[in-house]
Amino acid sequence: MKSSVSKLENKLSNCKYIFVVGGVISGVGKGVAASSIGLLMQARGHKVTSIKIDPYINIDAGTMNPTEHGEVFVLDDGDECDQDMGNYERFLGVDLCRTNYMTTGRVYEEVIRKERNLEYKGKNVEVVPDVPFEVIHRIKEATRITGSDITIIEIGGTVGEYQNVLFLEAARMLKTKNPADVAFVLVSYLPVPSNLGEMKTKPTQYASRTLNSAGVQADIIIARGPIALDKKRKEKIALFCNVPEDNVISAPDVKSIYDIPLNFEKDKMGETLERVLSLPKRTANLSNWKKFVSKTKNGKEKIKIAVVGKYFDSGDFVLSDVYISILEALKFSSYESGVGIEIACVNSKDFESKKIPLSMLKKFDGVIVPGGFGESGIEGIISAIRYARENKIPYFGLCYGMQLMVIEYARNVLGLKDANTREVNPNSKNLVIDIMEDQKAKIESKNMGGSMRLGAYIAHLKKGTVAHKAYKADMITERHRHRYEVNNAYRERLENAGLVFSGHSPDGTLCEIAELPTSSHPFFLGTQYHPEFKARPLAPHPLFTAFIKACQGKKKV
Ligand code: GLN
Repeated sequence: MKSSVSKLENKLSNCKYIFVVGGVISGVGKGVAASSIGLLMQARGHKVTSIKIDPYINIDAGTMNPTEHGEVFVLDDGDECDQDMGNYERFLGVDLCRTNYMTTGRVYEEVIRKERNLEYKGKNVEVVPDVPFEVIHRIKEATRITGSDITIIEIGGTVGEYQNVLFLEAARMLKTKNPADVAFVLVSYLPVPSNLGEMKTKPTQYASRTLNSAGVQADIIIARGPIALDKKRKEKIALFCNVPEDNVISAPDVKSIYDIPLNFEKDKMGETLERVLSLPKRTANLSNWKKFVSKTKNGKEKIKIAVVGKYFDSGDFVLSDVYISILEALKFSSYESGVGIEIACVNSKDFESKKIPLSMLKKFDGVIVPGGFGESGIEGIISAIRYARENKIPYFGLCYGMQLMVIEYARNVLGLKDANTREVNPNSKNLVIDIMEDQKAKIESKNMGGSMRLGAYIAHLKKGTVAHKAYKADMITERHRHRYEVNNAYRERLENAGLVFSGHSPDGTLCEIAELPTSSHPFFLGTQYHPEFKARPLAPHPLFTAFIKACQGKKKV
C-alpha cells in the first residue's frame, strides 16, 4: 500500500484533470457536456483526452443489451464501450483506446489480478483505498499514453448512487493532493413542472449537497433544463451550492448538440476552467467548429431516411440512442451535401406483425439497416431490404444489415428460399452467412465477452466499384464487431447473379463489402464493418456521403 500512497503523492506532472459528474437525473447530457468542455480546451491549444467511467460490474459494454444501455461503441483497438466514447471521438476528432474506458468490473479485475500476483506484498487489500488507487492509476495511465495535458473524466450515473462512490472517492483523493490541478463540474437538472411553470433549483441544491457528502465541492455547475437559467436562479444556485455566480453555466435544451460548445464558450466556460485550474488565459480557436455548425443550419430541402432496426422498443418508448453513431454519421454527410435530413426509426418487428405495411417505405429516399444480433425482427428486415432493392430505394446495410442483404439476395435472386445465417437457423441447407472459423471455439467454450472480431482491420477495395469511387482509395481501415461472415462457398454464385464483393480482407478470404452496380440500382451496398464509428463532424464518412447523394438523386426523380 505504501508504494501506492507515494505514487499518489507524486505531483501530477503539470496535468490537469476535469471530473464531470451528474446530479438529479441521468440522461441530461453529461457526455456531451464533457465532450464540449474537451473541445473548448482543445481549441485553446491543449492536448485533451477523455475517459468514461461506467459503474457497471460488466468488464465492457459488449455484453449489455442495447435496449438497456444504448449503443455499444467500438474503438480502433476493439474495445466495446459506452456510446459517450463516440461523442468524445466526434467532438475531439481523436481516436481513443481501451485505457480511456473504465468499468467497476475492469477495476476490480485488475485489483484481484494484482493481489493474486503478490503485487500488494502481503498487505490486506481493501476496498478503500486500493480500489480508488487503481482508479487513479488508470486515469494517469490514460493521460500518459495519450500524452495529454488535460484529461476529462466523466463519472457515469448520478451522485448519491452507491455504484459510483468509489470513483468519487478517487476523484476526491486526487483533488486533495493536487487542489490546483483538479476541477469538478456538476451537470445538474432544473425541472420546470408543468403545473407550476417555474424552474426549480431545489433538486440541484440536493445534488450539490450529496456531492459534498462525498467530500467533493463542485467548482462549476452546469444547469441543464428545458429553458435558460434566469439571473435570480443563478444567484440562488451560487449561494446555496457554494460556487461563484460566474461558475454557474446555463445549458437549456438545444436543437443540435453541436451548438453546445459555442453556447458554453459564450457563457465563459473555458475562461472559468482556466481560472479554476490556474491555467494561463488563452483565446479559443473555434473557427472550424463554427464553420461546421453553420452547415447544420443549411439545407431547406430535406431527405427522408428510414432506419429499420430491431432495438427500438423499450416499454412504450422508442429508443434511438441505440443507433446514435449512425444518426450522427447521416447528419454529418447531409450537412456536407447541403441537404437537410429527417430520420425515422422504424421497428422491423412492426413489418412482421403487419402493424405497418412495407409500402410505407415508399415515402423514404433511403433505407438503412444497422447492426444487430439474433433472430427477432430479422424477417421484417429482410422484407424491407427486398422492398428497397425492388423499388430502387437507396439501401445501406451495416454489419448485420450487410449479412441480411446477402441473405435477401440469395433467397430472392438466386432462388435459395431457405438461405439464412447460422446465427438464426443453423439447420438451414443454405447458410450463405456462416460462423467465422476462429469464432467456433469461442462459442463452444462460452467465451463470449470481448471475443468477436473486434476493432480496426484493413480491407482492399476493387477498382471501379461504388465503394472504391466513394473512398477514392485502394485500401481502407474500418472498425468491426461480428462473429459471422459471408460463406465463401456461395460467393461465386452470388457474383454470377450480379452481386459485387467490392472489399476484402488483405488475404482475400473475407468479404467486407457487398454492392450492386449502379447500372442496376442507385445505391445498394452493405459493409461487414461499422463505418459509422469513424464518421466525424469535421470529416464525414465517404460511404455515408455517397449514400446521401444517392438519396438526393432519388428525391429528384
Ligand atoms: N450478428 C452478426 C454477427 O455477429 C452481425 C453483428 C453486427 O451487426 N454487429 O456477425
